[in-house]
Amino acid sequence: MLQDVLIKREIYASEEHQMMQQMIRDFIKNEVAPQMEQWEKDGMVSRAIWERAGELGLLCIDMPEAYGGAGLDFSFSALFMEELGRKGISGPGFSLHSDIVAPYILKYGTEAQKKKYLPLMATGEMITAIGMTEPDCGSDLQALRTTAVDKGDHYLVNGQKTFITNGYMSDMSIVAVKTNPGTPQEGISLLIMESAWDGFEKGVPFKKIGMKAQDTCELFFDDVKVPKENLLGQEGMGFKMMMTELARERMSVAISAIGGAKGALEDTIEYTTTRRAFKSPIAGFQNTQFKLAECATQLQIHQTFVDRCVALLAEHKLTPESASMAKYSASDMHGKVVDECLQLFGGYGYMWEYPIARMYADNRVARIYAGTNEIMKLLIARGLFKEMFQEMKARAKQKMQKA
Ligand SMILES: Cc1cc2nc3c(=O)[nH]c(=O)nc-3n(C[C@H](O)[C@H](O)[C@H](O)COP(=O)(O)OP(=O)(O)OC[C@H]3O[C@@H](n4cnc5c(N)ncnc54)[C@H](O)[C@@H]3O)c2cc1C
Repeated sequence: MLQDVLIKREIYASEEHQMMQQMIRDFIKNEVAPQMEQWEKDGMVSRAIWERAGELGLLCIDMPEAYGGAGLDFSFSALFMEELGRKGISGPGFSLHSDIVAPYILKYGTEAQKKKYLPLMATGEMITAIGMTEPDCGSDLQALRTTAVDKGDHYLVNGQKTFITNGYMSDMSIVAVKTNPGTPQEGISLLIMESAWDGFEKGVPFKKIGMKAQDTCELFFDDVKVPKENLLGQEGMGFKMMMTELARERMSVAISAIGGAKGALEDTIEYTTTRRAFKSPIAGFQNTQFKLAECATQLQIHQTFVDRCVALLAEHKLTPESASMAKYSASDMHGKVVDECLQLFGGYGYMWEYPIARMYADNRVARIYAGTNEIMKLLIARGLFKEMFQEMKARAKQKMQKA
């Protein structure tokens, strides 16, 4: 049994964690998994499942109770992400909503913004998204082109975002824009934008190679009037805020990767024990045993590191470099494990009705979104060569000032 081989984890050992884990497993088994096929056909999940998750207290788990959250620490959110990953549930974008959008508002929002948006997010009545990527820029976010022109009591927003998770279902998005466009001080700011506003349009959900039940689409802004009170944090500080908060987004990918690799291994151990060839279970071949032993080892190593990062994040001590290491390394590991596992299913592994096929297709994007794995290595290298990068930045600044 896989769980007998892996080191007993301290992070989820408390009675509260165990109870929550059982509740999450029941929710996934009875209410989420049976709907996946229909959601895949629809290209999106139902609003009802969001409200049900809210009812069970599974949205915004680590948000203070004063704003409708469960007031628990980040490890409980991590547990939910891991269990969803374990069963290959990629449809509802709960994590992006609860663990990325909500923390931005909680950390940088005004009291009025918190009171207006957070309680509705916690109940699932309001579904949210975050719009950073544009058709012409993803990795290089400083090159974004969506503009927000200051019109006194409001900003006038024009531009476009793409690949937005929860985009089609979203009622509200945090959108990265350039304020003061065309001036030498043009900076990036974050705005809270409601989908119902005039000039805010959504594209049809993209057809993706995986995560077919998750709605990913474009957002278009044509002269959208955004009241000044919907500026999130300070004007011009958007890039800094994104760089700080992206560590949490990266951890959500790493945590899902641990769950995903574990689920793939559990399913494969079971399958190879029952499927037979040459009068032997597939698990009887040394090749199968060695492959699965290697996968379990990789899972163990990454699980230990990711658990430590989760604990550090819960204590607000996780460095961006560690978050980047966890994201790129765990998602790479997840990809390799799922690939090896699928091979052991033979032809059945290629059939959509087998969860391993879904896991294979769903998993590929983990190396791309939340910052590509190449960008993760760039961030780690920046930490390794900090002084050199600082000197280069200072020289470039001087050059710009002279020009
Ligand atoms: C399913 C899905 C969901 C997504 N959800 C969201 C969302 O909710 N919100 C959002 O804002 N975005 C979202 N994204 C966008 C995602 O974050 C971007 O696709 C990603 O950051 C990469 O940007 P890009 O696609 O523009 O690729 P590019 O930036 O064009 O990169 C292309 C390739 O070049 C490499 N590259 C780029 N720069 C460097 C460099 N300096 N050094 C080495 N290699 C480099 C990249 O690693 C990549 O391999 C989503 C994407 C997908 C596919």
